[in-house]
Amino acid sequence: MTQHSDTEHFTGSFTQQEPIPEAGIEAALSILRHGRLHRYNTVPDELSETALLEQEFAALTGAKYCLSVASGGYAMATALRALGVAPGDTVLSNAFTLAPVPGAIASVGAKPVFVGVTESLTIDLDDLEAKIDQAKVLLLSHMRGHICDMERLMAICDAAGVKVVEDCAHTMGAAWGDVPSGRSGTVGCYSCQTYKHVNSGEGGFLVTDDEQVAARAIMMSGSYMLFERHLAAPDPSVFAKIKYETPNISGRMDNLRAAILRPQLADLNTQCQRWNERYYVLENGVRDTPGMQVIERPDAETIVGSSFQFLLLDWSADAIRKVVSRCGARGVELKWFGAPEPAAFTSRYDSWHYADPQPMPKSDRILHGIVDIRVPLTFSLDDCALIARIIKAEVSAVYQSEI
Ligand SMILES: *Cc1c(COP(=O)(O)O)cnc(C)c1O
Repeated sequence: MTQHSDTEHFTGSFTQQEPIPEAGIEAALSILRHGRLHRYNTVPDELSETALLEQEFAALTGAKYCLSVASGGYAMATALRALGVAPGDTVLSNAFTLAPVPGAIASVGAKPVFVGVTESLTIDLDDLEAKIDQAKVLLLSHMRGHICDMERLMAICDAAGVKVVEDCAHTMGAAWGDVPSGRSGTVGCYSCQTYKHVNSGEGGFLVTDDEQVAARAIMMSGSYMLFERHLAAPDPSVFAKIKYETPNISGRMDNLRAAILRPQLADLNTQCQRWNERYYVLENGVRDTPGMQVIERPDAETIVGSSFQFLLLDWSADAIRKVVSRCGARGVELKWFGAPEPAAFTSRYDSWHYADPQPMPKSDRILHGIVDIRVPLTFSLDDCALIARIIKAEVSAVYQSEI
């Protein structure tokens, strides 16, 4: 109980996801047994798992068109290409995000213009407004699931004629108001990489209502002129012209991964609720820890709490390191975004030298204080309560010894 809170240890794994649902395993086995893994390798009257998956994800997000691809990073790069981003162009994007985001921009030969982060861990809309004339596209990352005021963001971008591509790697199943994440901008991009909300090892989706963008993305992903086999694609007439002008940059999803994903999509709502139960146990458990700031979530946001962050704002690097190592010694793996050297998943804008980042002191102050944990669904609610007790005890102990 709580009187032992200084000695409790957590023994679970922060990287252990749940198994693939039995229905997915069965479907995968049947694909393996017939051997038609390629999405266009079908027998007469057969609809491929990949095409069905796209139809189901389009329905889930309310998008007209959906394309499944090899990764979230590929989805973003394809979205940028489909919007006409060319070598030498600039693309606005978040200073607080993961490496595949600036990487997608660099992969099309463009250069990111980083926009700052606020204490809500969302994009700084004042900074966005100040920089809005520096690019024609914003690649907006809902990093760690934190969604900014999407009405204000869209008003800023619409007024400047800036197209928005949303990186929803952490917001599949989330929403702002009534709008599912990924449906405010021109294109929404999602990842199916193991640590996201559905797991096919690698994979991604792109959704849009724009028929030109959808047709170009399908051509680029490597459709070999078989675009008529898609179920969530524009009418074949839309391809008439672009099919001669759009290069093939293969990055398709295959039937095996699609088969694994379909039952997971069917469960997504339940899974999101389970994440949120765990998130709020963590949040309630660490609330009112001296020196710590929890991230208050706006009413308009429907969250998916698949990870949890808190701020140790204006703490010294040494003190934060002590918290990380003391929690680590008790089995709680914290990720710190302020470490001078990027470590597993925690790189930040100034780690991406190829993008020639300019100093951002206001964002540096916040990035320095961000501490992050993963919340896999293999954690029970009791696990989350224990993790929260350990974090609260160690943050309090270091805080008291430092002041
Ligand atoms: C995981 C992730 C992506 C996409 O990653 P892939 O590994 O390319 O699927 C994009 N943005 C963020 C913030 C991510 O965490």
